[in-house]
Amino acid sequence: SAPVAAPSEPARGGLLSRLTGGDNTPRRTLDDDMLEELEDLLVASDMGVETAQRVAANLAAGHMGQRLSQHQVKELLAKEIARIMEGVARPLPIYPKRPQVVLVVGVNGSGKTTTIGKLASQFKAAGKNVVIAAGDTFRAAAVEQLQVWGQRADVPVLTAPEGSDPASLAFEAMTKAEATGADLLMIDTAGRLQNRSDLMEELAKIVRVIRKKDPEAPHNTLLVLDATTGQNALAQVEIFKQIADVSGLVMTKLDGTARGGVLVALADRFGLPIHAIGVGEQIDDLDAFDPDDFARALVG
Ligand code: GDP
Repeated sequence: SAPVAAPSEPARGGLLSRLTGGDNTPRRTLDDDMLEELEDLLVASDMGVETAQRVAANLAAGHMGQRLSQHQVKELLAKEIARIMEGVARPLPIYPKRPQVVLVVGVNGSGKTTTIGKLASQFKAAGKNVVIAAGDTFRAAAVEQLQVWGQRADVPVLTAPEGSDPASLAFEAMTKAEATGADLLMIDTAGRLQNRSDLMEELAKIVRVIRKKDPEAPHNTLLVLDATTGQNALAQVEIFKQIADVSGLVMTKLDGTARGGVLVALADRFGLPIHAIGVGEQIDDLDAFDPDDFARALVG
């Protein structure tokens, strides 16, 4: 006998497919119950309670009591989220200064090394002369990984012996970048948050030393955050803002997470620019942040 067909899995959509079931479900009145459900879904996407409430309230403001189709709710929600995100979608600002110095900070595992490799490759492809400094001198594996990325991007990686002072490497890197007329110097840093005051001192020293060469450096301080860590990303911003002058974010691992809501929470709470998003482990998997695409993907 023919096997009984298993019921087909519902298509895996974004947030809203869980609210009303599908695009063909009847219209629903936007009332307090529905708003509450919406809020819960937003919170489940890692948007955090405050931001979820704000988004839901904005949605309610113009549409309470209206009978809305799933499609209409999606459109309204996507518009609301895109509006919040438009203010933070900004590519890495390019300075006329040579070398432009980009300090890259973030906890270990967030994707710093990978992001530096991807950025180096993009700038190189744009005709820029790029140098990388492997400033996490305490992790031999991190230095090796960065060298691999340097080869992939065809960009020199300056290293120092394991355990040596990252600030002196940064100084050497400045000297070398200036001498070779580099357009861009990216400095990797350690991400050991276990010892926050050490890390703070280490970063402060790197900044002090490179400012001897260029009082305006670093021109950007990029904080790399793993989007899959959800609300933890918010805590990391708080911490890194205290230990470094964070100027912008790169959000990694946005491939394969349905929980990118944390980006909305970050934008709402800190307003820091999102310069790029990591969407995979390959060298080309770094995209500009597009608020509309993001909002649509999140809403589903
Ligand atoms: P670091 O310790 O901060 O330097 O982090 P790494 O750059 O070594 O990245 C840690 C892990 O995350 C590695 O396995 C990377 O391949 C992976 N990774 C980094 N960025 C992305 C991304 O955008 N998407 C995915 N799927 N994996 C990523």
